[in-house]
Amino acid sequence: MLNGYKFRLYPSPEQEPILLQWIGCQRLIYNAKVQEDRYFRRFQRRMVGTVGEDIPVDQQYSRFITAKTAFLRQVPSPVLRNGAVRWRQAYQRFFQKLSGRPKMKRKSGRQSVWLTSELFEFRPIVDDTPGAVCGYHLHVGTDKFPVGIIPYVAHRPHAVPASIYLAIEGGQWWLSFAAEDLTVTIPGKEGDAATERIAEDLRHLSADQLAERTLGGDRGIAKPLMTSDGHVFDLLPVQQTRIQKARRQHRRWQRRAARRKKGSQNQKKAYRKVAHSPQYEKNVRHEYAHQTSHALVVHAAYDLYVFENLPIQQMTKRPKAKKDAQGHFLPNGRAAKAGLNRAILASAWGQVVMFTRYKARRRGKLVITVPPQHSSQECAECTFTAPDNRPSQAAFVCQRCGHRDNADHNAARVIKKRGIQKLLSGEPLTTSRKTTRIFRTLGPERSEVTPGETHIRRAPSKTDMHRSQNQELRGVIRETPTSTR
Ligand SMILES: [Zn+2]
Repeated sequence: MLNGYKFRLYPSPEQEPILLQWIGCQRLIYNAKVQEDRYFRRFQRRMVGTVGEDIPVDQQYSRFITAKTAFLRQVPSPVLRNGAVRWRQAYQRFFQKLSGRPKMKRKSGRQSVWLTSELFEFRPIVDDTPGAVCGYHLHVGTDKFPVGIIPYVAHRPHAVPASIYLAIEGGQWWLSFAAEDLTVTIPGKEGDAATERIAEDLRHLSADQLAERTLGGDRGIAKPLMTSDGHVFDLLPVQQTRIQKARRQHRRWQRRAARRKKGSQNQKKAYRKVAHSPQYEKNVRHEYAHQTSHALVVHAAYDLYVFENLPIQQMTKRPKAKKDAQGHFLPNGRAAKAGLNRAILASAWGQVVMFTRYKARRRGKLVITVPPQHSSQECAECTFTAPDNRPSQAAFVCQRCGHRDNADHNAARVIKKRGIQKLLSGEPLTTSRKTTRIFRTLGPERSEVTPGETHIRRAPSKTDMHRSQNQELRGVIRETPTSTR
């Protein structure tokens, strides 16, 4: 099973400008390919002579090295080629209808360079005991363009990958790659087959045993996660106050940057602050998601975890603009929706489930998702479903059997029950997937392109579902003004 790794990287002051140059040159080739493609498509439409001719979707880049761009010769050629390969891979995804056409890469935000095996080497550090590898030195560069050993902090053991990304974000350098997972306790279990095998084992249990070994989780705004055994997973109060403070700082530096003289050093300094300030919140959310998912999977009592299948991307979209008959814009609740979106994203819903999924797989446990419709209005005891069951945001009172509970706890129990039903019904546990081909460069051969297969999930497009979800959540926001901001 492949696993993603992301480690802090510490290039020296001499190495940093070289890496930045590599990043810039790779981006230039990528953007040149994007522009060339636009040019060809525009003229194909207008000019008779080129109609019917194929627009080149290739990996060639030598035509971009001219007298004006002679600086491109100062970086190793695989850096440039990988820029063209990245563009081609993006185009492949577009052809598979998995994304839009490749767009120009911007100079702001996270910047990265993709290095294939001819540009780096993990040399093992051998301990006193012969044969034992206790780590690696990362050598970057070629004979002609040496960069040297770049220190990185491997906070867990890893295998040697086929390619790596070196990235800078908010002033911090990162090393990231995908490699074989060394910590899988049950080897050989991979993909859908593994999911089905674990599910089959669980189906042999009796209904009572299965109910004991299943944990449902309800994700909400007021409480990011509540489980069916009554546990609440939330950020620490000190983290919440610090996040609020960091957000105020962020806005303050945005204002300062806007008022400073355009293009001045002082404005650049202010923008550097703007780039740094969201880092704290991001780190806290990331840590929360890792700690929560770890706490869930290490619990010896549970083998099956059930969450709602929330289409977070669709739920956090901008609201549509409203216009009156004369074409003037009307209020569309944009500010309120922005607050709601921020609250949804801040509770790290997606990350918690994603992390739980892979951590559970390592231990031979299973995570499944169930449809979210009306899970907060359904009674966990008698399945009676009505909006009246929720007299307030926090309370649940069943209008038929009188069952009283905390609303989130009730919802977690409903989700757990739906998960068990789904498992026993035998319907496919993995959502329909679209298969795409990923082209990656392997081995010392310069331009060998090896097709490999991977699975990409696409969120279901059920607009009605999202609407009801959003309406429900908006009700939450109105009743708990503290969570908006
Ligand atoms: Zn009831």
